[in-house]
Amino acid sequence: KPALLEISDLKKHYPVRSGILRRKVGTVHAVDGVSFAVGVGETLGLVGESGCGKSTVARSILRLVEPTGGSIRLNGLDITHLGKADLRPHRRAMQIVFQDPFASLNPRMTAGDIVGEPLIVHGLATGNAKRVRVAELFEQVGLRPDQMQNYPHQFSGGQRQRICIARALSLGPSLIVCDEPVSALDVSIQAQVINLLIDLQRKHQFSYLFIAHDLAVVAHISHRVAVMYLGRIVEIAEKRELFANPRHPYTQALLASVPVANPKTRRLAPLIDGDVPSPINPPPGCAFHTRCRYAMERCRVETPGLADVGAQHQVACWLNEGTGRALA
Ligand code: SF4
Ligand code: MG
Repeated sequence: KPALLEISDLKKHYPVRSGILRRKVGTVHAVDGVSFAVGVGETLGLVGESGCGKSTVARSILRLVEPTGGSIRLNGLDITHLGKADLRPHRRAMQIVFQDPFASLNPRMTAGDIVGEPLIVHGLATGNAKRVRVAELFEQVGLRPDQMQNYPHQFSGGQRQRICIARALSLGPSLIVCDEPVSALDVSIQAQVINLLIDLQRKHQFSYLFIAHDLAVVAHISHRVAVMYLGRIVEIAEKRELFANPRHPYTQALLASVPVANPKTRRLAPLIDGDVPSPINPPPGCAFHTRCRYAMERCRVETPGLADVGAQHQVACWLNEGTGRALA
């Protein structure tokens, strides 16, 4: 089965400048050599703490951010450097659902106009044909067609995210990038929205790149899961394998982090200490060494690459050296 989406050695670096001379004082390594593939009808979960580069990966795929290295292939076609006009037919195939449904909805447009807008922009339907299609999309996401004339503020947070999902569906995409789509929602609503996304995928067979800062959130929806730390993927595996047999100390810490009443005070204790280092001039060697309780001398100097530790299971950690075939 060919991959729908193939990301290869994706990089987004930019300079940090300071002072009146705007001297370069460092380089932000927002995304630092990320590679993965998403198959047709597959969901890849992408997990990591805020600031690890997940959203930059998402936005690079949609070309909302220009990568500084690597490539993005959709159905085998390299779209990394396509100009706006050449990109347009491919943009139809890729949609994004953002974290904050309110910020991504125009408050002066009715929900029906918001969902129908892509149909007009791409010249696919107008007038009654558009209304019929939008009503159908409303029903697909669990909204009532009579809600089409309402404005975003008249909906709950969960309903607003359903509007965003309907808009993403309107063009019949083959890939939907979900950038923390439930992080802003009440915990009681999160499962409903995730179940809706799963049902829609069963019906339409599109692929998801599903981003979250929480492994528990991606667990249900994902077929495979990739864990990111400071701009790199440190572990990637089939979901059950990752949860049953996490090999990277960071993945182990994420799995061991216990939810507390206030998610804002949630900590990764007891396995790791401290905060994520800045992506400006990140630590040399293994970027996780400043927080890793297994760190060895070598970890401060040499950067481990992703290596096979099992079927479809790759880890970037020196502890796993020799347990599988090293990749180039
Ligand atoms: Fe820890 Fe070293 Fe493995 Fe990095 S390479 S996760 S520092 S043991
Ligand atoms: Mg983000």
